Amino acid sequence: MITEPRKSQKFLRSKALPENLPEFRVIRSSRRKRSISALRQNGIIEIHIPDRMSRKDEIAIIPEMIEIVLKREAKSRSSDEVLTTMAANLLATYLSDFHERPTAITWRSMRERWGSCTTSDGTIRISLRLNGAPDYVVACVLIHELIHLRVPGHGPEFYSYLERYPDRERAEAFLEGFEAGLSALPDAPDQLA
Ligand SMILES: [Zn+2]
Repeated sequence: MITEPRKSQKFLRSKALPENLPEFRVIRSSRRKRSISALRQNGIIEIHIPDRMSRKDEIAIIPEMIEIVLKREAKSRSSDEVLTTMAANLLATYLSDFHERPTAITWRSMRERWGSCTTSDGTIRISLRLNGAPDYVVACVLIHELIHLRVPGHGPEFYSYLERYPDRERAEAFLEGFEAGLSALPDAPDQLA
């Protein structure tokens, strides 16, 4: 099998490009005659262009392609309302004896934890890294934080509530694998932030 070599180059920021573009890289490929595409790989936006494209055209196309990627990401990103709805369902289904209610639930850029709960004001944050993870995974992190509204620590009472969530083991297995995958990437930027 012959793998076609790809020319890759780190683009030198030119004066013709707008300032403060997110990190990107241009990959010229002789295999692509006409097609241009862009996607995010390990946090960096990759713009694929045909080898024969001129520098001038390349500079013109870069901001456009970056914008397409950013718009696509914004569209597919789940909103805070999704979390609020999910929390209401979880409370009704598994924690119906709870009178505690969160005051706000938001996606937040967090690298160390999947979620956090501030009991004093009832706010919950879920790591943006999980935005796009399967629902049963997000729900598991969310129910964990909802339980903290009543039980601060991780003692037997806490787990007696958490055990009510049926997909817990599957979700925890997913999170372990996800964590391993993230740490395997050298200097992995927070892709979902
Ligand atoms: Zn906890």
